[in-house]
Amino acid sequence: METEILKVDNLKSNYKYIEKAADLIRKDELVAIPTETVYGLGANGLSSEACKKIFEVKGRPQDNPLILHISEIGELDNLILELPEDVKILLENLWPGPLTVIFNKSKIVPLVVTAGGKTVAIRMPSHIVARKIIKASKVPVAAPSANISGRPSPTTANDVYEDLKGKIPLIIDGGQSSIGIESTVLDVTEKPYTILRPGFYDKDDLEEYLAEVVYDNSLLSKDIIPKSPGQKYKHYAPKASMEVIIGDNKGVKDYINNYSKNTNRKIAYLLFEENSSVLKEHDIFLSLGSKDRLNEMAHNLFRNLRLADKLKVEHIICEGIEEKGIGIGIMNRLKKSSSYNIRRV
Ligand code: AMP
Ligand code: MG
Repeated sequence: METEILKVDNLKSNYKYIEKAADLIRKDELVAIPTETVYGLGANGLSSEACKKIFEVKGRPQDNPLILHISEIGELDNLILELPEDVKILLENLWPGPLTVIFNKSKIVPLVVTAGGKTVAIRMPSHIVARKIIKASKVPVAAPSANISGRPSPTTANDVYEDLKGKIPLIIDGGQSSIGIESTVLDVTEKPYTILRPGFYDKDDLEEYLAEVVYDNSLLSKDIIPKSPGQKYKHYAPKASMEVIIGDNKGVKDYINNYSKNTNRKIAYLLFEENSSVLKEHDIFLSLGSKDRLNEMAHNLFRNLRLADKLKVEHIICEGIEEKGIGIGIMNRLKKSSSYNIRRV
């Protein structure tokens, strides 16, 4: 199958591309779509046939449910059993955006979407191209990240092409994803409401609108089995081995100095600008931006991991951060991509 990439940089003149994407989705084909978190592999979320294709193309484990994407709050009604008043207020404030909410599902949601379960995950993305495609397709769009399962998530159309060329008919290019890590997943089917996957929003952000939010215990210890099926798999992994180092600027620089003296392996260093002066001219440096702007680190994180793979390095050393705010979401990804190879320096 030929995979076409169509760039939407002007909604008016590229309207045909949006129509084409929606048309394919209505015909139960798969289309990769841009969102503000990462690129999604979109399918008709009311069609079991279409959703099965997602699992085949990604090599996604069957027990890992999909998120349904909608373009307006009103589209929720058909998909869920009840919308608690406090959650309604939360959604009025944080949707559209990088927040996924788990509800009890209605009958029309196919079991392949929920991996056989009674609950369904729903998000309204803020990326305008994503919302236009969902609206034009007239169905909720099931869309996990548009990568081969286990690989770093795609944040550009090119990343998607790398993983899925020849397997899907169309990729819509809407530029690099602005946030760069996946949505925060919040379960509101039981109290206390529980964060199953950390993301752009942390507990404090959600508690601006909700009385109490807790983190799923599995996020606090790697030995506890997660409630969110997707959290238990190998994830976000580059081809190279990887370690994460956490420390102050001196600790990081000393460690790198010492490390680079004692190895002849090809290494990619993912460091903050503050520490890049420790590297020599021929070292491979991939910038995490400044420690003061962690949104930048999230924005480029998966991209840097994919870049390291393209450069065919043997090992990646990446600076980690304290688990606060978006740092919780970032460290969740880094723990998995490094298989929990974390070192305090
Ligand atoms: P992805 O779309 O690949 O970023 O993954 C979606 C995430 O949401 C995975 O971690 C899933 O396990 C999680 N998820 C989706 N639906 C549900 C659900 N009904 N209950 C719990 N977690 C869910
Ligand atoms: Mg994913």
